[in-house]
Amino acid sequence: MARPAVKKARILVIDDAQDVLDLLNAILRNHPYEVHTARSGASGWQKIGEISPDLILLDIMMPEQDGFRFAKKILSDPETKTIPIMFLTARSDIKSLQTGLGLGAIEYLVKPFNAAELIARIEVALRIKFLQDDLMRANAELQSMALTDPLTGLRNRRFLSEHLQDLLPVARRYKEPLCCTMVDIDHFKQVNDTYGHPVGDEVLLTLAKLMKSSLREADIVGRYGGEEFIIVSPRTDLKAGHLVTERLRKTVENTTFSTAKGDLSITISVGFAVYDPANPESAYDLIERADTALYAAKNAGRNKVMAAQPVGG
Ligand code: GH3
Ligand code: MG
Ligand code: MG
Repeated sequence: MARPAVKKARILVIDDAQDVLDLLNAILRNHPYEVHTARSGASGWQKIGEISPDLILLDIMMPEQDGFRFAKKILSDPETKTIPIMFLTARSDIKSLQTGLGLGAIEYLVKPFNAAELIARIEVALRIKFLQDDLMRANAELQSMALTDPLTGLRNRRFLSEHLQDLLPVARRYKEPLCCTMVDIDHFKQVNDTYGHPVGDEVLLTLAKLMKSSLREADIVGRYGGEEFIIVSPRTDLKAGHLVTERLRKTVENTTFSTAKGDLSITISVGFAVYDPANPESAYDLIERADTALYAAKNAGRNKVMAAQPVGG
């Protein structure tokens, strides 16, 4: 499989000898590479940060920091460890080769090298690098999909649970409250029954956008289930929770939802529970309390906000 022709591979050559850099530059320039050079580990490290190379050709014997130590640094940093390293060195002994490859370098070539062989091996290294980039991209996309609700683009239930589990210990350590809010559309079944499921979907999407735009940057809103949403608001106590949720309820009440079947209005019921770092509870229990408060809001006639009873109170 050929690597993408459009993308020019960025190659960083690190060698303390200027004549070696000149020679490599002359060879590599005839190929679709963007060539960068550095004469020490320190300046090489800076170049890596600037250009994020697809391959590093690395000398071993250099003053200050030798190539082995520098390779270790690159391969142990999460930001740089996926960049393939190819040693290009005068050291022809097997022990050095073992050390270099043992560190995690992809290739070990001895000077004087054959130019055609060098290019052939560079091509192999780049093919692997670009395949690996593709895999990492696909993996990141899958990971994001697994945590996103496809209809609204909001975070999904799995993300919300994990997010809460991450935040509660932080809130506890810093003795900060945290508000967990559950929102449920009132009589949503009627919307579907009257206007059809696609219109129901439009309403969900519009409400999702509305909630997102009316909340703070630090607040996370996600779709918990069908027409149920959860908002996680760090550093929010009972009083602030009341303000925020009541404002959201009013905003929804006063918003016109334009759909393919015309304008319509909806209301929401809201239940919220505040995490008290002095009375810690699990994410599950916190959501449960918010849900119970939501149930109370429904029973109180809908289009209401209810706060949960404090833990142990
Ligand atoms: P309540 O006021 O008690 O909350 O009544 P409700 O009708 O909103 O609640 P109920 O739980 O009886 O119905 C929820 C409805 O939400 C039923 C279901 O068809 C609808 N729903 C769930 N997910 C989706 C979705 O993705 N799209 C659409 N259009 N409707 C959905
Ligand atoms: Mg409902
Ligand atoms: Mg519901």
